[in-house]
Amino acid sequence: MPYISTRGAAPVTAPEAIVRGIGPDGGLYVPTSLPRLTRADFAALALLPYPARAARALALLLDGFSEDELLPMANAAYARFDTPAVAPVAALTERRYVLELFHGPTLAFKDMALQMLPHLMTASARKTGETREIAILTATSGDTGKAALEGFRDVEGTSVTVFYPLGGVSAVQEKQMVTSRGKNVHVAAVKGNFDDAQTGVKALFADPAFARDMASLGKTLSSANSINLGRLAPQVAYYLSAVADLLAQGRITWEEGVNICVPTGNFGNILAAWYAKRMGAPIRRLICASNRNDVLTDFIRTGVYDRRREFHKTISPSMDILISSNLERYLWELSEGDCAQVRSYMEQLKIEGAYTLNEMSKVHMRSAFFGGFADDGATAAAIRRAWVRERYLADPHTGVAFSVSEDYRRETGDATPLLIVSTASPYKFSADVAAAIGVPVPEDAFDAADSLEQATGVPAPQAVKELKSLPVLHTRVCEKDGMGRAVLDGFADSQ
Ligand SMILES: *Cc1c(COP(=O)(O)O)cnc(C)c1O
Repeated sequence: MPYISTRGAAPVTAPEAIVRGIGPDGGLYVPTSLPRLTRADFAALALLPYPARAARALALLLDGFSEDELLPMANAAYARFDTPAVAPVAALTERRYVLELFHGPTLAFKDMALQMLPHLMTASARKTGETREIAILTATSGDTGKAALEGFRDVEGTSVTVFYPLGGVSAVQEKQMVTSRGKNVHVAAVKGNFDDAQTGVKALFADPAFARDMASLGKTLSSANSINLGRLAPQVAYYLSAVADLLAQGRITWEEGVNICVPTGNFGNILAAWYAKRMGAPIRRLICASNRNDVLTDFIRTGVYDRRREFHKTISPSMDILISSNLERYLWELSEGDCAQVRSYMEQLKIEGAYTLNEMSKVHMRSAFFGGFADDGATAAAIRRAWVRERYLADPHTGVAFSVSEDYRRETGDATPLLIVSTASPYKFSADVAAAIGVPVPEDAFDAADSLEQATGVPAPQAVKELKSLPVLHTRVCEKDGMGRAVLDGFADSQ
């Protein structure tokens, strides 16, 4: 199966798509066909340990990789998770479940893909004959950065440079990044917001002069952002896994299926759920939960994507995004593979800041997705309700999903079983979680974790406890238009 760029560039193989990260025309690589799983396939999946489930799912999605070859990679990738279930499903009341994706080393769902990506990347380099060093460039709204630094640290033949918005991430997220060890890791804060950082990285990928600089250093660029096909595929795996568990445990039926609510920023996680649905998983409605940056809520409701609005900093910083990159893959699907149409939408977004879907696409999108948003007040209230009523401690991103899923049930009356996706450990955002449930919050963000642990009895992960005393190793700050220089300076420093 070939993979094509959403903007029409020539088809490539899966390993090529992974090494390149993004199409030469700025488009995202998409599979041109999807395998279909049967009820028996889900039953078989439920009998396997998580890494074997992931290997099977990845072999279906990535041509050129066999299940046998992927299994040792998945075993290594998921060995560092704090539960053998890797992506466990917890039960709440009223036929509601939580898919916990934060059990990896950096405490957010990005680990699910970014612990796997380096294995896929080095194998792909081998398969494509790429011998240059692969220089990963990544913009982060907070969680991708640390997950990429952790995943690629000291991986032979690679380096990783992470850009995060200065003042735009949580104290814990920043400390996690600036304390990263590894001889091939670089971190810089950008004076701008996440969209600025993401746009800056995309611009470097398209900059011929920067490509020459890289070539002269014997390096080639790739991306660890969710635009990389190698990020998307491992994310599809946990939806197939969760549905297999729910079916095997009799919590959902094949006929009734399940709705899934995903706290969304760049549209990567929820897009993976949509792929799982297309692969035959009995997934009904996809509920797209945004924070006050509600560009996707409006888009799903009206068919108009309009980024010309104020950017809000919220207590769910990893979702403070106005330009959702992965939406481009869904637009390609909505347009039935019409790359010219996708190019036109993206051109309008770039030049005018907005585009409008045609009527057919609007109807299709609204039947698949529901869009809602929660501001910080509603998010904190939902965190409090989940704690008081269910003794479930949710982080603010997950809180957004709790809030929107409650709105969804109220608004539609739809009582289909519900799977809420939990994307971060509450201890990654201890101060805001403590405030939401009424625990006195110490000034120091790192002491907040101790207070939260004492008040709730929910154990704090070791990775958070260690953080306070780790030395800061990265202090680079750059302007929005100085990101290329910052990459080169990082390489020069590590000579
Ligand atoms: C990245 C992130 C999100 C948003 O995921 P997308 O794939 O960008 O939509 C939500 N919550 C947390 C904690 C994240 O790190």
